[in-house]
Amino acid sequence: MIEQYKKIIIIGGGILGLSIARQLMIMGCKNLTILEKDESIALHQSSRNSGVMHSGLYYEPNSLKANLSRKGILLLKDYCNKNSIKWEECGKIVVASELGEIDRLEKLFTRGQANGLKGLKKLSSKEVNYFEPYVSAKAGIIIPEESIVNYLDVANKFKEEIISLGGSIKYSSKVVDVKLFINYQELILENGEVIEGEIIISAAGIYSDKLAKVLNIDIDNKQILPFRGEYYLLKPSFEYLVKGLIYPVPNPSLPFLGVHFTKLIKGGVEAGPNAVLALAREGYKWQMINFKELYESLSYIGLQKFILKYPLVTSSEILRSLLKPIFVKSLQRLIPDIKGNMLSSGNTGIRAQLINTQGNLEQDFDIRIKDNIVLILNAPSPAATSSLSISEYVVDMITR
Ligand SMILES: Cc1cc2nc3c(=O)[nH]c(=O)nc-3n(C[C@H](O)[C@H](O)[C@H](O)COP(=O)(O)OP(=O)(O)OC[C@H]3O[C@@H](n4cnc5c(N)ncnc54)[C@H](O)[C@@H]3O)c2cc1C
Repeated sequence: MIEQYKKIIIIGGGILGLSIARQLMIMGCKNLTILEKDESIALHQSSRNSGVMHSGLYYEPNSLKANLSRKGILLLKDYCNKNSIKWEECGKIVVASELGEIDRLEKLFTRGQANGLKGLKKLSSKEVNYFEPYVSAKAGIIIPEESIVNYLDVANKFKEEIISLGGSIKYSSKVVDVKLFINYQELILENGEVIEGEIIISAAGIYSDKLAKVLNIDIDNKQILPFRGEYYLLKPSFEYLVKGLIYPVPNPSLPFLGVHFTKLIKGGVEAGPNAVLALAREGYKWQMINFKELYESLSYIGLQKFILKYPLVTSSEILRSLLKPIFVKSLQRLIPDIKGNMLSSGNTGIRAQLINTQGNLEQDFDIRIKDNIVLILNAPSPAATSSLSISEYVVDMITR
């Protein structure tokens, strides 16, 4: 049990900070404040994503990701129903474009079964075309549970609940330092203000490693890298080419799913995202450069080892970002009829991806607790799908 009047501070007003705050308020906490550095909630990953509710297909069985996405998708669908948030169970198809990919598709199917996905089914090339007539595939699998939603709608609903339960959100409040005492902490904001808290929960997304440093939590020299994902939009007259969600078989050594087609809940179809190293943690375009952050990324041994391990992936992602015809070629592997003139520029988002000193991108969620401080260190996709199960997991950690 949490003492109701303990002062709880949550750093970060993205979907995770908000879902955790909501869960704590529902459990009766009376003194909770979210500190958000921006002037609004959810301006980063939580509103710049694919809007897919992932059902747990890809993740190592019994990993935190597998468990929390399975639980999370069910909780989220129920939450959307109860709160009149628009969502749709449109289903997803993963396709093998070449015979050489069928083996990996089979492994994915087995993993999906191990994770308990419902209605998972293998498809022949012909059956793929029953669901997606314009796709070229040697084989596929269908995941009927996968759905779409706008995560900003979900985040806004969380915020509404937090406020109505008496919680507060303090904007323009960037946490830059802390003074640790035995039973409480003083968080120092960029403007010099001091905010006191007895329980601190950091959900700072792309800055989670920086907050670890501020909060004096050892993260084994791991670092967050910003991987930008760029999308194109199918022009309205070509949206007929895509009925639901169409994904390639992913590269198993990378946590990114490969460029795909995504139907949007607000209407329209996105194609993407790629995964290119951003030149600033919030560098949504090539022109947005933060030299200090760029130096921190490039001088990090983990990134250097990653580039040596995957020189082709790294260079082809840069080319695919700069040259539209290369992007289009990746999309044509899924739908050969796609042409460059059918696509207009779309959104971009930046994935906060934890990497270790060996150059491995950490695949699983990493959520830690030290004394009265919880740190959400690595919460890449599908953390939006899992926002409600992550909030239960964090509350359980605090009350254990
Ligand atoms: C391109 C892309 C596609 C994705 N697709 C999907 C998908 O289809 N399905 C899915 O489930 N997930 C998807 N994800 C992942 C998902 O969006 C994220 O896992 C999730 O939004 C993480 O939420 P968060 O609250 O941790 O981070 P964020 O939304 O980034 O929020 C962190 C917040 O902390 C604030 N902050 C940072 N530092 C400080 C500080 N010092 N003081 C105060 N505030 C601070 C930031 O301003 C920000 O508001 C995708 C992500 C991307 C980038």
